[in-house]
Order: sequence, then C-alpha cells, then structure tokens
Amino acid sequence: MRLIDTHAHLDFEDYDSDRFEVLKRAAAAGVEKIVNVGADLAGSQRSVKLAQQYNELYAVVGIHPHAADTVNSDVLANLTQLAEQSVVKGIGEIGLDFYYDNSPREIQQVAFKKQLQLAQKIDLPVIIHSREAAEETLALLSEVGDFKEKLIFHCYSYGPDYIEELIKRDYYIAFGGMLTFKNAESVRQALKKVPLNRLLLETDSPYLTPVPYRGQRNEPAYVKQVAEQAAQLKELPLAELADLTTANAKRIYKL
Ligand SMILES: [Zn+2]
Repeated sequence: MRLIDTHAHLDFEDYDSDRFEVLKRAAAAGVEKIVNVGADLAGSQRSVKLAQQYNELYAVVGIHPHAADTVNSDVLANLTQLAEQSVVKGIGEIGLDFYYDNSPREIQQVAFKKQLQLAQKIDLPVIIHSREAAEETLALLSEVGDFKEKLIFHCYSYGPDYIEELIKRDYYIAFGGMLTFKNAESVRQALKKVPLNRLLLETDSPYLTPVPYRGQRNEPAYVKQVAEQAAQLKELPLAELADLTTANAKRIYKL
C-alpha cells in the first residue's frame, strides 16, 4: 500500500527530538511521501530545508491566517524566492480563520489575497485553511481567479452542503483525523460526496490525531487510520482507496 500525507508540520519543535523516527514509522506504515506545510516565514524556510534533507519530504510555503499580520512585501519576496526551489510544490497554508481571529479579519483578507495572487503568478497550487469563514473564503477566491484543479481545501470541516460548491469549482478536498471522530458525522457525509479523483488524505500533524491515538501527538504514519475510514465510507478496498488518493496527490502537487 502506498499513501501520501498531503499536509503535515514536521518542522514544528514537537518533532525536534525524534523526527527521523517519525519518518521511519511513516515509511513502515506505507507512507511514501509527506508534504510539509509552512505556517509562517521561519516555518516555510525550515520546511524547505527539511525537504532538501529528506527524500520523502516536499515543502509548501506560505503564511497561515494566524500570522497574517506578518505579511508584507519583504515576506512575499522571501516566499517567492523560496518557491523557486524544486522541492516547493505549493503555496500554503493560507486563508481565513474567523474562529481564533489571531489577526484582524481585514488583515487576514489582505494577506490571503496577496498570497493567492503570488501563487497564480508563479503557477503553484494553493492550500487553503478556512475556519468559520466559509462564505468569505469563497468570495475572496472568486475575486482572484478560478483555481480550478489548482486548489486544496485542507482539513475539510464544513459539512455536506458546502462541499457541493467546492466540487462544482473543481477543487481538491483533503480529509484528516477528524473523519474518525465520533462527533464528526457531517464531515463523513461530506466525504461521501467527493469525486474519487478529487479526494486527498492528510494528518495535519501534530494536530487532529485520529482514533485510536487521540490525545497523543499526531504523525504521518497515522494517515493510514484516515485512509481506513475513508475506504469504509467510499466502500472501496483500502489498497484501491490508497492508490487513488496517492495518484491525486501526485497530480495536484506534481510530485
Ligand atoms: Zn496545517
């Protein structure tokens, strides 16, 4: 079985003491590639370094809405430069988070828009973080471009109605450990609607650890638990679901 964890944060200090062991466990679980996603400029730089160091890692660079107030022309120039490295496969995670509101909303919107335009200019896919900002996210995306087949809606959490609009727009949609949570029936119902050629798996390590490891630090090996749940929902053999989602990840990220 071959799996790809399309979204992890192995550059976080949570992994400083055992990063290599974490990668070995991922390989043993059938995870052949991991896309490491930056959350701020320093994290994006660490991401690129790690991807240059480890064959199984790729990098995505960008500024998370939590750090939106750090986005200025220098930071954008730095991201542009980082994106020239061949290990960089996307711009993210970018978007809107009106749940935590760590940066003022207007500043989040400006930072989101500027990074969308950057991705468009250098022709890389975008990885979207959207929380409690469903309509605002779509409105801003429409304003900048169509992003058809060039966008990953990461950590899908909005339920089965909203997902129809994402499918109509031809976005890719990534699901993580939440799929295994008891109270996440609406996320499971949403996954059932996603076309098999647009479905992606992720862990968002170190967050959102799937059952039966909930409460512990998450790691890419556990994308297998996510795959098992997705296979059950799609009524497919695990190996087939793994192959399909791996092919999807390779297509959107051009791996
Ligand atoms: Zn993330």
